[in-house]
Amino acid sequence: MDTNLLADLLYPNIKTLPADIEARYPARNLPEGAKVTRFAPSPTGFLHIGNLYGAFTDERLAHTSGGVFYLRIEDTDAKRTVPNGIQIIIETLAKLGVEFDEGAVIDGDNGAYGPYRQSERAEIYQTYAKQLIREGKAYPCFCTEEELAAIRERQEAEKLNPGYYGEFAIWRDAPIESIREKLDAGVPFVLRFRSEGDLNNKHKFRDEIKGEIDVTENDIDHVILKSDGIPTYHFAHAVDDHLMGTTHVIRDESWLSTLPFHIQLFKALGFKMPKYCHTAQVLKLDNGNKRKISKRKDPEAALTYYHSQGYPVAAVREYLMTLLNSNFEEWRLANPDAPIESFKFTTKKMSVSGSLFDLDKLNDVSKNVISRLTADEVYDFTFAWAEENDPQFASVLENDREYAVRILSIGRGGKKPRKDIALWSEVKDYMSFFYDMLFTRETAIPESFSAEDVKAVLADFITSYDENADQNEWFANIKAIAEKNGFCPDMKQYKANPEGFKGSVADVSMFLRVAVTGRMNSPDLYEVMQILGKGQVLQRVNGLL
Ligand code: GLU
Repeated sequence: MDTNLLADLLYPNIKTLPADIEARYPARNLPEGAKVTRFAPSPTGFLHIGNLYGAFTDERLAHTSGGVFYLRIEDTDAKRTVPNGIQIIIETLAKLGVEFDEGAVIDGDNGAYGPYRQSERAEIYQTYAKQLIREGKAYPCFCTEEELAAIRERQEAEKLNPGYYGEFAIWRDAPIESIREKLDAGVPFVLRFRSEGDLNNKHKFRDEIKGEIDVTENDIDHVILKSDGIPTYHFAHAVDDHLMGTTHVIRDESWLSTLPFHIQLFKALGFKMPKYCHTAQVLKLDNGNKRKISKRKDPEAALTYYHSQGYPVAAVREYLMTLLNSNFEEWRLANPDAPIESFKFTTKKMSVSGSLFDLDKLNDVSKNVISRLTADEVYDFTFAWAEENDPQFASVLENDREYAVRILSIGRGGKKPRKDIALWSEVKDYMSFFYDMLFTRETAIPESFSAEDVKAVLADFITSYDENADQNEWFANIKAIAEKNGFCPDMKQYKANPEGFKGSVADVSMFLRVAVTGRMNSPDLYEVMQILGKGQVLQRVNGLL
């Protein structure tokens, strides 16, 4: 077989040689040990929590080593590509604090190793493919869908391994005349890799996360270029990661099954292999069983969820880090105020079997993160969230920033700050009773108390409330009101003899809390009243008379 002739017959328009391309991609000038990583999504319009897990790993490995983290768009499957897919990727990740040093940007490229959209690299892939043909390592296959289906059926019936190999690889050794005949008739073809692998050959491979793994050689002649000359994932992966100087490929473990083929491709193309980091999948507990987080069943699978719910970016990063590195939590306990970047991220501490994602735990982390912010910071984050997601609330906040900040200051700043906000979307409910236009009575005073007693207590409060009293004086007054109305002012005394009273000072406080806030639970009632102001407080209490 004259493979040079075959190469020209199949790709007559490709005049470039691999050497021409190599010259366009010089080695990167980086310090010793610097890692070059890439995030390589398909622009389908959807980003999964697993994508973020990978992107954080990429970003940390590159940036803790003085390397480069770049974005490559894998848009070789036109059917799965949405028009603003790249924008969605860039913006969604930026909102979660992930920024690229290099790669595709919304309206083009930023960097010297592009184009960074695979759809713009057809000539490059075909140049390398043509070289493989010349070297006898690739050949065209003209099988129709029906023929391939028939092969599959036979393999199923005879319980053989599926795929295009051995006797099923009908075009592998076809004479050039048959090929020419098909080409002359305009029959489309795919380009297949000529595998020399043998299923009996097994060897060890070192994965940076999984450690030493067993790999069985691949014996299938996989497709490398589709009939439109566009590469499959496998071929584009080898060519791009070689040219773009990727040192570490971080990808989901579902790619492990095709690793043997990738090893063959790098060898056949004469490329040095990158290091591989196959990440475990992100799992969740469902009725006590672990399963993969699913785009269909779980809203938290979508990255947009975190932004629309209003999770602080710092909380998502913090929580993801606990999933990514098993020693992170311990480090955080020892370094509560250190920036997350100073943590020594390593693939050695990554889960091998699966990372259990727990929304409750994320919420706890988030509460902690928010509890450490100042009231001004909480205001700013909440306002930014509301502007996008709840414009009416945004205008309420904007109307009187100082008032909102006073509300958000309650219980903040001390040794044990309140931890009752996990999401920016919860702040409205948290603050709503401070605003007449948002105030609703959510709870009534339990009917176990006589309406007359309640009214007497509230009426006494109205006549005695002194806005200028300090917290102790204020509470002394509540106790006095309690005593006067037959409610025990002292909790110890009450517990010793509950039958002797209509209730306790705690019940009196509850009447007032319900009257003023419309709820059973609220931040410190004295401070609430101070912020609301006397007029508002008395109006609310009057509302229950
Ligand atoms: N486009 C592939 C994906 O989204 C990339 C996998 C990789 O990072 O190599 O799964």
